[in-house]
Amino acid sequence: MAFSLLTTLLPERCLICSGRERVTRGICIRCRSLIRRLDAPLCEICGRPVGTPGVCLQCLKNPPPFDRMVSACVYEGLIQDIIHQFKYRRGTVFSKFLAGLVAESLSADSESPDMVTAVPLHWSRLMQRGYNQSMLIARELSGYIGGVVRYDVLHKTRKTPSQVGLPKADRERNLERAFTAKGVEGRSVVVVDDVITTGRTAREISRALKRAGAERVVFASVGRTVS
Ligand SMILES: [Zn+2]
Ligand SMILES: [Zn+2]
Repeated sequence: MAFSLLTTLLPERCLICSGRERVTRGICIRCRSLIRRLDAPLCEICGRPVGTPGVCLQCLKNPPPFDRMVSACVYEGLIQDIIHQFKYRRGTVFSKFLAGLVAESLSADSESPDMVTAVPLHWSRLMQRGYNQSMLIARELSGYIGGVVRYDVLHKTRKTPSQVGLPKADRERNLERAFTAKGVEGRSVVVVDDVITTGRTAREISRALKRAGAERVVFASVGRTVS
């Protein structure tokens, strides 16, 4: 009794450093400060850091199939370690924290989406890993921003070899029509990914969602690689 009272009175410990200083969603203020946000101004569509506010030249010239892409932070250092743990070592304790970061970066979107989903894994990969890491974030995210979590709107129809090390032309072909979508007609959808690198997966999935009639597609990731 005395012990349980004590643990509820003491502040929560940080999942990373075990510190107790201003811990929110499992992470303390000091560890949070090690996470680098993308430098504003960001393109209103693709979310890349660009020199001036508004829509970047690339998006103007060649509008992407999604309506908006948002990333919570730069994929480096501590956040890279957390995502890696989360993905390969069942570090699922981090899902609330990661979803919180994504929710903060989405705050400019004032309306709740109709649904929240995640980049799907091929079923064989899902069997192997046991969970879809991005879907865990999607589930928590819907608690913060609203929208129904949907596990069944996106499917990866074939297994694609890793993009890493493939020549550029092959990478485009590698993902072509690798995804299908259903049940999204007239709906606004937020799709969660852990890391966005080239954005090819995001474009391919957004095309699939738009083909299936989605009205608005927002891609939201925890990390993004910036060069
Ligand atoms: Zn900490
Ligand atoms: Zn842009």
